[in-house]
Amino acid sequence: MEEKKCELLRKEKIGHHIHKLEVKMDDAVLSKDCGKIRTIKWEGHVFEHPILYVRISKRRKKYYLFLDESKSECSLLRDRFPCSNFYLQEDEEYVPAYVPRNNDQKVISFIDEQSLFDTLPVIDLLLSKNIEQQIYAAGSLSDNKIKQYLNRQLQENVTYMTSFTSTHISSILSGQFIGTSLSITGTWPVVQELKKLAVSQGFTEEEIQCKGVGPKQKKVFCVKCYSINELKEDMNCPDCHADLDVSDHFSRRLEAYLGYIEIE
Ligand SMILES: [Zn+2]
Repeated sequence: MEEKKCELLRKEKIGHHIHKLEVKMDDAVLSKDCGKIRTIKWEGHVFEHPILYVRISKRRKKYYLFLDESKSECSLLRDRFPCSNFYLQEDEEYVPAYVPRNNDQKVISFIDEQSLFDTLPVIDLLLSKNIEQQIYAAGSLSDNKIKQYLNRQLQENVTYMTSFTSTHISSILSGQFIGTSLSITGTWPVVQELKKLAVSQGFTEEEIQCKGVGPKQKKVFCVKCYSINELKEDMNCPDCHADLDVSDHFSRRLEAYLGYIEIE
């Protein structure tokens, strides 16, 4: 992967561990609107460190970089970075928390403390495209500094909640206009639950983008009694006690693998 040189224009500490840097690419540009940097190199040092980026001006080759220093064990990186010039290498595999669609007018994002970092570049991306956004953050965000930053970026369009309750989420999702999309991030069980609620409120697959963290719990749909349960070894349906043969067939509608009745 190619190394690309950039120059630091401005830096700001937006959270207890999070830095936001404004950089200008020297020659080559970064490949996406919103992506991830895998390694940074300066003065002969190379660091594997996740940095997220968002393009703010294509013409002027300007980007914002987001760096979480708590994810680094290297004191050199913490103490001396960023310096004026450094090289970036992209992580091609990264999928952003949200990719804007052509007809997006409004994006509602559900986030938690763990997925907050991935949301930061998306906020700037949506701002640059003049897409209205509303963020619901679950859990107690312990970092007051980042809260101040979010409030500044989004004014009154960020709401903090202790947890996402289905009644509250349904009331948020009902009555939204056409052109409203959803960005759902967080741990997989929460993401799956929110997606289910969104579908029941009439949102289509195309209008919902999900990004989960941590293990994705596999669920199995019992073809005998139609219940959905967590996958276990030697799957036996907890509801009807049928022995199930779990197939590779994943139902997107049910968010579960189909479990057929085992034939002796
Ligand atoms: Zn069953």
